Amino acid sequence: MDLAEAHEQLRNVGPTRPAPSLRENALAVRSLTPEVAARAQAYLFASAGVVGLLGVVLPHPASFNEAGMVSIQVASLIGAVMLFLLRRRVPGWLTTAGPFAATMLTSAVIVFSGVSTSGYLLFYLWVAFYAFYFLSRREAALLASFAIVNYVAVVLGFRVWGEPSSGPQGNDDVPAVVLITGTVAVAGAFIVLLRERVGRLIRELTDAASTDPLTGLLNRRGFHRVVETELARSRRTGGTFSLLLGDCDFFKDLNDRLGHHAGDRALVTIARLLEANREQIDVAARIGGEEFALVLPETGQEGAYAVAERIRMRLADVFAAQPVPLTMSFGVVTFPDHGVTDDQLVRAADDALYAAKTLGRDRSVLHSEEIAGILAAGRADQQSHAQAHLVTVLNLAEALDVRDTGTARHSQTVGRYCEHMACELGLSGERTERLRLAGVLHDIGKIGVPDAILRKPTSLTAEEFDQMRQHPEIGARILGGSGLEDIKRWIYAHHERPDGRGYPRGIAADEIPLEAKVLAVADAYEAMTSDRVYRKSIGADAAREQLRSCSGTQFEPRVVDAFLAVLERQIESEPDVETVQPPAGI
Ligand code: GH3
Ligand code: MG
Ligand code: MG
Repeated sequence: MDLAEAHEQLRNVGPTRPAPSLRENALAVRSLTPEVAARAQAYLFASAGVVGLLGVVLPHPASFNEAGMVSIQVASLIGAVMLFLLRRRVPGWLTTAGPFAATMLTSAVIVFSGVSTSGYLLFYLWVAFYAFYFLSRREAALLASFAIVNYVAVVLGFRVWGEPSSGPQGNDDVPAVVLITGTVAVAGAFIVLLRERVGRLIRELTDAASTDPLTGLLNRRGFHRVVETELARSRRTGGTFSLLLGDCDFFKDLNDRLGHHAGDRALVTIARLLEANREQIDVAARIGGEEFALVLPETGQEGAYAVAERIRMRLADVFAAQPVPLTMSFGVVTFPDHGVTDDQLVRAADDALYAAKTLGRDRSVLHSEEIAGILAAGRADQQSHAQAHLVTVLNLAEALDVRDTGTARHSQTVGRYCEHMACELGLSGERTERLRLAGVLHDIGKIGVPDAILRKPTSLTAEEFDQMRQHPEIGARILGGSGLEDIKRWIYAHHERPDGRGYPRGIAADEIPLEAKVLAVADAYEAMTSDRVYRKSIGADAAREQLRSCSGTQFEPRVVDAFLAVLERQIESEPDVETVQPPAGI
């Protein structure tokens, strides 16, 4: 597949969505808290009180009810002071209730002014400004209607009980109602428009500040916000989440040979790959030049490692045919196993990523205590790199065993059977040790097989079986490089059969390495004699019988005979297996 094709294939992935928390943040910027509402209302009431008192002091019509007017303005000022002082403790309903009270006070002020078309009706507009800026459209519309109804009631009141003052305003009240209605509506429309524009702008700026313009993924800042959100969630629920940090291998070479433009295109392709291979709830980010990250909520170590491996292999496939094939290395960490703060987790992931680079690149490393040793051996020779790589894969095998069988037994037992068979077959001491290691590592490729398939209690569908059959190949790819080439070859062939009906290649008889044949027998016997989700143990006698009856077809007769001889000597009665330690000097 070439790059253009990969782009085409990934185009359907759709635009990158920013993490929901960012959008929520943007909305929160303009949301109204009771404290903000109380402060805004305090200023409004204070201004209205001062303006109202000035109206009393300055020349005014004879119809003016000074006592009524002063009491309302004083009440307004007291209300303002109270709101300001108690602004942190006011209840939420005050946000909406305050302006309704202010509307009624305005009506009272107009009544005390003695003129239905008094200039005080502009106070209705003040309240409308507040409502359209702070409240929802529906609440603001309700309040505006309430103000108009109030004013109409005031006008009708003046008409029925007669205006105490004589003057021209008697015929002006209808135009005043129309004018105040129109003014409130126009002011409301402008304010709502302005408010929505400001909100959109804030959202866009927030997104832009957290988005990488080249790939559309979150940038480092956005990534850290998502990690903080996940940390808070996991701490609250006692859950887990994982982080993958990926860095392109030898990206400088690609830039140097094909130019920066091609480099940028490759980065976009990587971003699309991450998007295509993540789950809905995962978040992908570009946190540096050619460094990427994935946040995987509710995902444990093995699940995260499997995702890293899937992406790494997919990426290697997509770029394999390019003039400069590109690969990536990944560091994998999980909360709370490898860190409990953003800083600790990212540093641990960085260390694991650096270990992946040290071990030869194009690989994923799950963080473990041995990482420090690998980093210390950073500049050491090839041999210590191989040793360090072995430690990381052994850790992984153990973690996998616990995932699949609940204990770290299956792989260890297979390793032990292999060792016994190797002795029986007369293999050299070194080959025997390698075979034991191969036994421990033989199922490592199952990291790439989803839990749902591994633990399925009923029989697998053809498609699921196909996925299951990929584990020898995945295992071989994980073990690639760093002095494990022999073990890699054996594991790749451990599901081949002498009759040629095995997988993945269907090779037969002498084409299959002897060690792979040993692995096949050990694996099958261990599987038959232990309980699994999908079936119980068939017992040692029946398992031996199975080996005998499949000798020559599924299993190599020479190996079966050796194993039966070993079993004859009752190896089951041996004490529990001890942990396989990596031999020195690999
Ligand atoms: P390795 O990580 O395997 O050790 O080798 P590397 O060559 O990738 O080394 P390093 O990570 O130190 O270098 C990153 C290079 O990525 C440096 C820079 O030229 C290139 N790079 C960073 N950002 C961009 C970008 O936005 N576009 C392009 N085209 N190249 C970038
Ligand atoms: Mg880098
Ligand atoms: Mg790099």
